[in-house]
Amino acid sequence: MPTNRRYEREQQVAVAAVREAARLCRAVAAEISPEVLAKQDRSPVTVADFGSQALVARTLAEAFPDDPIIGEEDSSELRQPESAAILDQVLRHVREIRSADGRESVDADTVCRWIDRGGTTEYRDRFWTVDPIDGTKGFLRKEQYAVALALVVEGKVVVGALACPGLNAVFHAVTGEGAFVAPLDEGPGGVANTAATRIHIGDRDDPSAARFCESVESGHSAHGDAASIAERLGITLPPLRMDSQAKYAVVARGDADIYLRLPTRADYREKIWDHAAGALIVAEAGGSVTDIHGRPLELHHGRELTANRGVVVTNGRLHDSVIAAIAELGIGRETAG
Ligand code: AMP
Ligand code: MG
Repeated sequence: MPTNRRYEREQQVAVAAVREAARLCRAVAAEISPEVLAKQDRSPVTVADFGSQALVARTLAEAFPDDPIIGEEDSSELRQPESAAILDQVLRHVREIRSADGRESVDADTVCRWIDRGGTTEYRDRFWTVDPIDGTKGFLRKEQYAVALALVVEGKVVVGALACPGLNAVFHAVTGEGAFVAPLDEGPGGVANTAATRIHIGDRDDPSAARFCESVESGHSAHGDAASIAERLGITLPPLRMDSQAKYAVVARGDADIYLRLPTRADYREKIWDHAAGALIVAEAGGSVTDIHGRPLELHHGRELTANRGVVVTNGRLHDSVIAAIAELGIGRETAG
């Protein structure tokens, strides 16, 4: 690894930020009772979403006070009188992490102001983007979800960090320096185990043996189109369905070879926080990431990937065949412009 690491501090802060936010998410998840699940009550995800964004934004503000943050959430809903009970819980969980050791005192207004640090909407030459809980359905199901954080400089992702509690792992990458994984669990005394190992994409080049993953939610990615692509490429294994950017992580470490995110509607635009961190981690692990038409992801349009449609992630070797199959099948033809 180069000794003169340009984004060393950013990387350390990003990893610490997603670790701390994941701790909050796990604490909220631990309180989800069977009754909450039975009622399909979404309040735990709301609490964890706001709590996670508050912590990440606070950590970034301490380290890089001038950096803007494009986050998924803002506090306007949380400040409504009918959200008082939610705000109380957000505050309780944030305090458990931030005030327990007397680090700092936190009140409701402080938490809302931290959340609103993520309120940048326009492109900047240097900005962070955060998805405080990516894969909210997976969080409620106690399956896969992620806390995703990326630093974008001049339109390129330069640092990515992805905490995946369901994989008990935090993945991270710095441009040009490779992709790494470390355990998410804390070691003795609550000290983070930061020993990271390098990860690489798999080397499969025969599509018939390839494993592809996609969203659990058919509203987020067209399952039928994915099945057609699989058939055309001769893929025989069933899809690995999982929520969140954990899909990027499993491709990056070679557990899967392809991640397909195929438009379900012509007017949907992917959100930058759903892709920035994962895309760098896959690229640094040796893989390829484009949209369904083979175009590079453009991160300089604000909150959305305005110029792109869907996303295709592969181990690199299979990329051209997947893009060719999409074109031949006419998938997303109406969205090509
Ligand atoms: P996943 O867990 O991979 O299914 O993706 C979760 C993300 O899907 C959320 O963070 C949303 O931003 C995003 N999303 C919501 N609606 C759509 C849609 N129609 N197409 C693609 N992604 C969507
Ligand atoms: Mg998301």
